[in-house]
Amino acid sequence: MTARTPITVAYGDGIGPEIMRATLDILEAAGAALEIEVIEVGEAVYRSGIPTGIPPAAWESLRRTRVFLKAPITTPQGGGYKSLNVTMRTALGLYANVRPAVAYAPFVETKYPGMNVIIIRENEEDVYGGIEYRQTQQMTEALKLISRPGTEKIVRFAFAYACANGRRKVTCFAKDNILKITDGLFHAIFDEVAKEYPEIDSEFWIVDIGAAKLADTPEAFDVVVLPNLYGDILSDVAAQIAGSVGLAGSANIGDVAAMFEAIHGSAPRRAGQDVANPSGLLHGAILMLLHIGQTEVAERVHNAWLTTIEDGIHTYDIYQDGVSRRKVGTQEFARAVIERLGRTPRVLQPARYPARSSPPPAAPRPAAAQRKTLVGVDMYLDWTDGTPRRLGELLAPLGNGRLRLAAIFNRGTVVWPDGLPETFCTDHWRARFLGREGTSLALPDVIELVGRAAQAGLDVIKTEHLYEFDGRPGYSAGPS
Ligand code: NAD
Repeated sequence: MTARTPITVAYGDGIGPEIMRATLDILEAAGAALEIEVIEVGEAVYRSGIPTGIPPAAWESLRRTRVFLKAPITTPQGGGYKSLNVTMRTALGLYANVRPAVAYAPFVETKYPGMNVIIIRENEEDVYGGIEYRQTQQMTEALKLISRPGTEKIVRFAFAYACANGRRKVTCFAKDNILKITDGLFHAIFDEVAKEYPEIDSEFWIVDIGAAKLADTPEAFDVVVLPNLYGDILSDVAAQIAGSVGLAGSANIGDVAAMFEAIHGSAPRRAGQDVANPSGLLHGAILMLLHIGQTEVAERVHNAWLTTIEDGIHTYDIYQDGVSRRKVGTQEFARAVIERLGRTPRVLQPARYPARSSPPPAAPRPAAAQRKTLVGVDMYLDWTDGTPRRLGELLAPLGNGRLRLAAIFNRGTVVWPDGLPETFCTDHWRARFLGREGTSLALPDVIELVGRAAQAGLDVIKTEHLYEFDGRPGYSAGPS
């Protein structure tokens, strides 16, 4: 007998316990070799005063088993509660979110019968650090973080996934026509890694037109890799247009741990009625079986599920007159799947998985360090006392002998020395000082500049230091 793999299970909130019971019944009947540890996370834990929704005992189990099958949970309304999923992803290093978006025509209604796209979303970086500030009356801001190792890990994962799963093409979406440094890095690393996989086609789209194409012609895509925010949005769009929000599962994979779930929430209005569709969580569980190497069981469960769908045995959310044959509840649906274990679908494409479909961890390669030189500073000010010209008059003398005022920006637009009077200005100003010709700058130059500005009565709210890396600017462009 196969050794049992220890996994951690959370029954969750709302419809969670019902769909988890149905899912585990199917896995057991299919012969999955699992050693289950049950933990409690979610609503009750939040309400007991733990702001992450995850008690210490749950962390102990997760760190022991490193495999987590999680039913949806309810995040209570009101402030102070942290997103459990974001905590899990960052604390356990689950950098890759894998979401298949598959159409099951003609049995489940869809506009795109041929759709079969894998969305691979970077899970740890981008704006999801939740690093935000308000430093003036009018302005708010958020920090978008994109790192070389973080990007390399997700892009390598996407190509390795494509190879391991017989996929032909990886597409990358980003917005590097605007975000030239952050999304520019994502794009550049995509191009670098793509060269290592000549057998896989690669293509890049600016995210806006790429999203439009995905929503219009999803059949044109195979594996799509995206930074966190675009991936968050487009994985939901992909699931919705496939017609399968209630059917889709998701894997969150890291080098040492992995979490599997349905993409939908806890649907509290449907709780306790035995009507919810367990298919999304079951698909999460199939991804888990593949991850832990129980490929045959994954295939058996998946094919029994496809046969059940083909036989027209449907829960209320996908039931259609004329297509469906029997409307069933959660547990009856599970029994129907169990009865079909060992069968393969006749119309839908049967599931066939390679022996090892989970790609090996993709170690980022250390890049050679580049020469870093301080060349200036962007000094941010909270200021409401007049025109850009007036601000220029106040700031220009502060440069002294080593720095010179090169430009003033408001919301990214240059307003000094050559701005237009029509430009709307907020109270949030950015003054760019660059080193004078032949000056080599150091941190004290920046500190002294801020000191002079404070003495002049200006409200300096932050500085961003301007560096060159091997002579190339590490800051967004403006006049030099
Ligand atoms: P939801 O996904 O729970 O429900 C959206 C709609 O889809 C509802 O009409 C619901 O009845 C239906 N639905 C969802 N799953 C279904 C299923 N399996 N079978 C049949 N119908 C189903 O989204 P929501 O209402 O916005 O969120 C409810 C709660 O879930 C919130 O507390 C939210 O924070 C939480 N949530 C949790 C997760 C997670 O744990 N991963 C994800 C999303 C939302």
